[in-house]
Amino acid sequence: MDARERSAERMARATAGAADDGLGAIVVGPSPDLAYLSGYDPPPFERPTVLVLRPDREPTLVVPELERALAAVSGGGGKVDLATWRDGSDPYGVIAGLLPGSGRVGISDRMWAVHLLGLQAAAPALSWTSASPVLARLRARKDRDELDALRRAGAAADASFEAICMIGLAGRTERDVADDLARLLVEFGHDSADFTIVASGPNGASPHHDPGSRRIAPGDPVVLDFGGSFDGYFSDTTRTVVVGDPPDGLEDVFALVHEAQGAGVEAVRPGVAIQEVDRAARAVIAAGGFGDRFIHRTGHGIGREVHEPPYAVEGDRTVLEPGMTFSVEPGIYLDGRFGVRIEDIVAVTDDGVERLNRSARELRVVD
Ligand code: ZN
Ligand code: ZN
Ligand code: ZN
Repeated sequence: MDARERSAERMARATAGAADDGLGAIVVGPSPDLAYLSGYDPPPFERPTVLVLRPDREPTLVVPELERALAAVSGGGGKVDLATWRDGSDPYGVIAGLLPGSGRVGISDRMWAVHLLGLQAAAPALSWTSASPVLARLRARKDRDELDALRRAGAAADASFEAICMIGLAGRTERDVADDLARLLVEFGHDSADFTIVASGPNGASPHHDPGSRRIAPGDPVVLDFGGSFDGYFSDTTRTVVVGDPPDGLEDVFALVHEAQGAGVEAVRPGVAIQEVDRAARAVIAAGGFGDRFIHRTGHGIGREVHEPPYAVEGDRTVLEPGMTFSVEPGIYLDGRFGVRIEDIVAVTDDGVERLNRSARELRVVD
């Protein structure tokens, strides 16, 4: 399937999904949703650009006149109708003209409020709801090419971890190690390095610590959580290492997180609600007495975005299907002492689970 066919098929499925959900249309602004559906990936601007999907019409991309040439080349591989508006005219009237006169319409969750307000004023008889239930359902199940991209991303992140361990951490600042990790992610094939958390010693107790000037010393546990985009799909992995001898209590806490992460991954298979993955990991940590120090959900979907639905959290009843990809990343955070987190991306297979990160998960002692 070439890009043009794939985009036509995705738009057709989104349109059918909208009809299933009783939506008269879906309006999608610049976002990973738009790129996924149409192949067109412009930045969001004050000038509205939207894709309108309607069960009884061809997909239509509404763009500012000055973007027409660009959209014609990349938008939907030529499979969409183009409608344009000129500066000084009313873009919301043009978009409203493509929508049904009444009923419910879905809108993508990255739409700027100013654009939704303009649409509400231009089409006052419509009621607006989130298009996410339709779009997230589509995007959650990755096709073969998407899974391949996620595998390559995972392998490149694993190689980056191996390389940073060989380089060593002792005596260096967190910022310096984070810069190295970013460089390695790109060296191993990422388009860009998007986040490189290096949280040493007590800084590890803050899950999203911003790497700073702290100098890593012997006896420090270090949480390394990093990833980036690879052919448009994200990697995201976490390993906790220790420089030299582990401090008191680290090995017990690490063993608990390691066991919890394994339990979470083992819970992954088709037909199971994703909240069961959270429950499996959380039960282990709670039984070990650290339930209140596991202060975040167990995982998040991943694909064109680092965080996207579904979420491994109590209350998310999304039933796992082959091709879904998400993180399993339990952690324990002890204020003033250290933190431990282990994170792998996994893919749901026909009968179980595939880990997309394969670097060793045991407590690694580094220089
Ligand atoms: Zn995180
Ligand atoms: Zn992460
Ligand atoms: Zn993550």
